[in-house]
Amino acid sequence: MISKGGRKVDFDWLLDIAAGVSWSKLQSIILNPENFISLEIETEELEVIWESHIKDKTPLQYLISKCPWRDIELEVSEEALIPRQETELMIDFALKKVSNIDRGRWADLGTGSGAIAVSLAKSLPDWNGHALDISNEALGLAKKNLKSIVPNANVKFASGDWWEPLKRWWGSFDLVLSNPPYIPSGLIEELEPVVKNHEPRIALDGGEDGMKASRAIILGASNGLAKGGWLILEHHYDQSEKITNLMKKTGMEEVSFEKDLSGINRYAICRKK
Ligand code: GLN
Repeated sequence: MISKGGRKVDFDWLLDIAAGVSWSKLQSIILNPENFISLEIETEELEVIWESHIKDKTPLQYLISKCPWRDIELEVSEEALIPRQETELMIDFALKKVSNIDRGRWADLGTGSGAIAVSLAKSLPDWNGHALDISNEALGLAKKNLKSIVPNANVKFASGDWWEPLKRWWGSFDLVLSNPPYIPSGLIEELEPVVKNHEPRIALDGGEDGMKASRAIILGASNGLAKGGWLILEHHYDQSEKITNLMKKTGMEEVSFEKDLSGINRYAICRKK
């Protein structure tokens, strides 16, 4: 199948996630060709998925409606951004910051498929959570994911613009995470076809300088966060200084940044006085 084109890493991913053949299983049959492994889906089905990926550049995650993320497997669809590996780290930073709070309130602004919200609900079972998105379709997906992964979670969903739907709880958030759209509009056309032709533009396009959503989130944090509450924001590779400066200008304290897996400043963190 790989002779038809495409990247080997993607094919290995597909074999693992869609057919249940992990890389180590694959190695074991390469070393012992007399062993045999069974696929969890028909080879023909696998072929159709792969061909569609090659031809239309459709992301494999959308073709199989699945995406593993941290220790969970999310359902994904073209209604929401595919959760990225780099965003996984935000959960670790967040859990470290709030390890001293037993029962707090968190929010995930722009939840998409619900990756951050589901992980927080799983890791902070005694907290109240809020997952927001402007897209009702994305919210539907996030709700479905939460229900199947953390069925008894205490999470409210609402649609609207960033902090807006949370007005009732302003001033009570101990932790707010967001991976907002942050790519400058002018760069969208330069993205890979798998991204620009399939993922929702609304989840990627951060306006002229890429910071339209981040600005609204940081400004809103001065009202929305509780005293001592944390905001953790993912941003574009070249926005670290601008975002952390904006946090300082807004009166936030303990402003810092963290790097992604490639060593790029990718997350900004701050705390309300
Ligand atoms: N990290 C994503 C990408 O590079 C962008 C996600 C976003 O805009 N929040 O495709």
